[in-house]
Amino acid sequence: MTTIGNYKLIKKIGTGGFSKVMLAEEVSTGQKVALKLMKNSDTRQGIHRKNLFESEVAVLKELDSENILKLKDSDVSAPVTNTLGKVVDLSYIALEYAQNGELFDYVANGEKFSERTTRFFFHQIVDTLKYMHSKGYSHRDIKPENILFGSDFTLKFADFGFSTKKDICSQRRGTFGYMAPEVLANEAHDPKKADIFSAAVILFIMTTKHCPFIKADPNDKYYKLLIKGDIEQFWTLHENSNGESKQFSEDFKDLMTGMLSFDPSERFSLEDIQNHSWYNGPVAKKE
Ligand code: ADP
Ligand code: MG
Ligand code: MG
Repeated sequence: MTTIGNYKLIKKIGTGGFSKVMLAEEVSTGQKVALKLMKNSDTRQGIHRKNLFESEVAVLKELDSENILKLKDSDVSAPVTNTLGKVVDLSYIALEYAQNGELFDYVANGEKFSERTTRFFFHQIVDTLKYMHSKGYSHRDIKPENILFGSDFTLKFADFGFSTKKDICSQRRGTFGYMAPEVLANEAHDPKKADIFSAAVILFIMTTKHCPFIKADPNDKYYKLLIKGDIEQFWTLHENSNGESKQFSEDFKDLMTGMLSFDPSERFSLEDIQNHSWYNGPVAKKE
């Protein structure tokens, strides 16, 4: 069995755009960890993995929350011999293992969360963004693949490679489909406001199992209505999409609309969200 540093690899548990993640056991303690592995030699989209790694470790060191994966250990250079006998230089980040996997898998498998459970998860997303923002950080890539569940379905933010302390960013970072329009448009933007747009997309997906738009593209019928600010038509289309008629409550639509505002200066703040009537409805843990 392959060993990296003080860790025995057990099985692959994830892949991201920039890494492979393995379940591993710390030899000295027997404790399970998630080992996020990156090849130091690789570059992609002009982004050096080594920079991503260093930046992610630095961010994790400053954050301490029940809803953020805990950093256990890291190494910037761990040589490993691959199956072809070639030595590969890896960086690894040993993280608290989130045993219940990605939010993505639950929504992709069509699992219906009750409104109360959705709200319970959404509270944790908002609380965690509030905590990160209070520490000066934006996340910049929240999406169901980067939101994990620990034991008891405690929500855990993962993947801090793009997180920054900058108040204004000019580089486009994140994932299409979750990116705020000002990020997509390559404008100088406030990344904390962009996080709120991404959180809205996640709330929409948890509630409907669909994306609020098919493509973040001015020709997309939903996106077009958001750009125009024709919110009524946006909701009418969604309520009659996929051959079924659905009803969203007025307070849900109002919260969503405020968070999905195309104009970042009009977009709801985290405080607006926390004061909203939908937010303050009943919660229930996931069964
Ligand atoms: P990338 O930056 O390459 O996207 P991530 O940090 O998002 O890498 O990790 C990729 C995937 O690996 C995640 O989407 C998740 O499925 C899995 N993963 C990452 N960290 C953990 C963890 N601590 N526990 C369980 N699974 C994890
Ligand atoms: Mg990721
Ligand atoms: Mg990443």
